Amino acid sequence: MTFIAVAVPVARTDQISAALETARLAKRQGADLVEWRVDSLAQEPGAASAVTRLVQDAPLPCIVTVRHVAEGGGFCGTDEQRQQVWTAACTAHPPAAYVDVEWTTYRSDGLAGEHARDMSRLGGLGNGSGPRVILSFHDFDGRPAGLSTRIAEMWSDPSSTVTKVVWTARTPRDNTEAFEVLARRAKPTIALCMGEHGLMSRVLAPKFGGFLTYARSDAQGTAPGQPTVEELVQQWGFRSIGPQTRVYGILAHPVGHSRSPALHNRWFREGRVDARLFAIAAGPTWESFKATLLELLSLDTLHFSGCAVSLPHKLNAIRFVEECGGVVDAMARRIGAANTISVAADGTLHASNSDLVGVRDPLLRAATAQGWADGLTGRRALVIGAGGAGRAAVAALVSAGAEVTIVNRTADRARSLAAELNSSLRDGATAVPPIAARSLRDLGATRFDVIVQATSAGMAGGKDADVNPLPERVSMTDATIAMDVVYTPRETPFLRRAERAGAHLVGGWSMFVAQAAQQHRLWTGNDPPNLDVSMDISTGAPSL
Ligand code: NAP
Repeated sequence: MTFIAVAVPVARTDQISAALETARLAKRQGADLVEWRVDSLAQEPGAASAVTRLVQDAPLPCIVTVRHVAEGGGFCGTDEQRQQVWTAACTAHPPAAYVDVEWTTYRSDGLAGEHARDMSRLGGLGNGSGPRVILSFHDFDGRPAGLSTRIAEMWSDPSSTVTKVVWTARTPRDNTEAFEVLARRAKPTIALCMGEHGLMSRVLAPKFGGFLTYARSDAQGTAPGQPTVEELVQQWGFRSIGPQTRVYGILAHPVGHSRSPALHNRWFREGRVDARLFAIAAGPTWESFKATLLELLSLDTLHFSGCAVSLPHKLNAIRFVEECGGVVDAMARRIGAANTISVAADGTLHASNSDLVGVRDPLLRAATAQGWADGLTGRRALVIGAGGAGRAAVAALVSAGAEVTIVNRTADRARSLAAELNSSLRDGATAVPPIAARSLRDLGATRFDVIVQATSAGMAGGKDADVNPLPERVSMTDATIAMDVVYTPRETPFLRRAERAGAHLVGGWSMFVAQAAQQHRLWTGNDPPNLDVSMDISTGAPSL
């Protein structure tokens, strides 16, 4: 079992009651251990009796840690002050379960080093007479030089019980090194990465037999990137992660805003699929996309089984799968972009595009609701936008038999997209009307049955959050289906106007859920357990 530890900083003696309350909360939330971080307290008068109280009244087995400033902590006192705290941890009834000592201190000739080694020898006897020692090493600046040698030295110490290495991940690739450390462990080991790239190492610690992972019980954590205990236990299903748990990702740049992990992990959880999906910041270039995927695929025991791919990597997804000798789905090739990579049981990679289904399925449902017996066949459709979403919208409408016009702010882009898709999507099929292209300015007062707003205008936080790109002269009525691909906010300027006209509205959230559902099918072979996933209107987040 991999423990969940909550680190609680206690800076002064008057914070003890509040710290104990935090530990009780952490226990209720599902934590197994509390780590008392007494870096500052250790330098206060009365530190020893304060630590004795913390240890004796702790609602969970505890770790006592006095982290030195050299390793990212707050302690810069004397060896005697440290010794006092450790003695209190050892002589409390019952004593602390563990004392964390930095490897550099442990090896030093001074009083603290000597005391730590004595403490370790006693704890190593395992007769409960004193705490066991966790030998630790931290690097907040990045991966430490000589990491493997250092870990081997720490493992070879005969009396310490647990080895701990923690560093700040520079890229998502550092996680796999932490997993390799755990796989080679010579004794119970903690190997974790801090920072925005390190979440995977924290959540997947049980998959690789990590001794513990850290979580926070409230907004305060002691290291960047820690999830809360509740997130870990409930959203990530930490207790059921095991060696065979499959791993998926959403690769994008930036990726922090993505709702994909929340949605896919919810479906995995509800559908009892032993898999987890992580937001993976791949960096903006082809090289970093390729390096990230190769690293994730190279570690067999990670069981990396696929990924969603978003901006700016949808073309890179096709190139990567081609270079790996995999299969690019015919429609993804025609559209010229892929947003899904799946790894088959034999290791073959498949690239596909679920954005098409993401646009088509909600539009077909809307067409049924409008009473259109032939679905979208023969319907006049307008797509505003010639970027990635516009491309998927055109492909969806053409594949459903609609007669499509693309308009774009930059008219040339609309024209070249129409030319490209006329050649790839229609493929000589004269039954499908040619895709027309116009500039937004030249769009007359034509009436359309379906209008898809596929630009980023209206997106919350963007510079055009208040913009509706559809010219006023293009009319909408209750016979129009109006779809916006933007899903934050739920009510965009375009949809507000469509609502006033009485049009049938299709929000971007429907597209997001439909394209994710298709990814779930591609990865698991099954429909997601629940397609009716609502969204928090104010934040745009799925209500989970
Ligand atoms: P993109 O490739 O960067 O294309 C952006 C498009 O928006 C271009 O056609 C651009 O026109 C146009 N545009 C931007 N600002 C505009 C404005 N003020 N007025 C008129 N046109 C404007 O982006 P994308 O991948 O297509 O994404 C577009 C939107 O779709 C984003 O908000 C994205 O979050 C959303 N999206 C949603 C889903 C979903 O599942 N719901 C999936 C994919 C994308 P120019 O060519 O003239 O610059």
